Amino acid sequence: MKRPAIFLDRDGVIIENRADYILSWDDVEVFDFSVQALANCADSEYLFVIVTNQSPVGRGLLALEDAQSINNRVVQIVRENGGRIDGAYICPHAPIDACDCRKPNPGMLLQAAAEHDIDLNQSIMIGDALSDLEAGKRAGVAHCLMLLTGRGAEQAKLPEAESYKDVLKFKNLPEALNWIFSGKLSK
Ligand SMILES: [Zn+2]
Repeated sequence: MKRPAIFLDRDGVIIENRADYILSWDDVEVFDFSVQALANCADSEYLFVIVTNQSPVGRGLLALEDAQSINNRVVQIVRENGGRIDGAYICPHAPIDACDCRKPNPGMLLQAAAEHDIDLNQSIMIGDALSDLEAGKRAGVAHCLMLLTGRGAEQAKLPEAESYKDVLKFKNLPEALNWIFSGKLSK
C-alpha cells in the first residue's frame, strides 16, 4: 500500500542555510529544535524524505562524495536523536545543467515516490524557499508548507511569493509538524 510522505528540504529546515554554501561539516549548524521535532513524530504514518539541492557540487566547489558525507551525517544526527529519515536525495547539479531534479523541478520527489511507493496526493512538502513550494506543487503533493527559518523570511517577501500567498507559513519545523500532527491538517 502506498504511504504518504513528508518531504523536507535540508538547508534552512533541519540545519541553518548558508548563502555561501555548505562546503564542509564546519559550515553545518544543526537546528536542535528540528531534530527534536522529528523525533517527536517518528512513529507517524508518514515517510520522511530529505530532498536537497547541492549546486556547489555542480559548480565545482564540492566533491559529490563530500556532499553525500555531509548529508549522511545530518541524517545520522536525526536518527541518533530518535528521528526517522526514510530517504535522502541530493541534486548535485548547477542551474546551468538544466536537470530534472534541481528544485523547483520535482525530480527528487518523483524518484522518491517511485522508490518508496509514496502516495504523492497525500504527501506534504516543507521548505524555506519558493523553489521548494514549487517542486512540491509540480510533484502534485497535497500541501506545501513554508518555514520562516533559513531563507524563508526573506523569500516570503519576494514579489514571486505572491503566487504562493495561500501557502501556510510557520516559524520553524516544529510548528509545521505540530500543525500536521495536531489534526489541523484537512486531507
Ligand atoms: Zn539535479
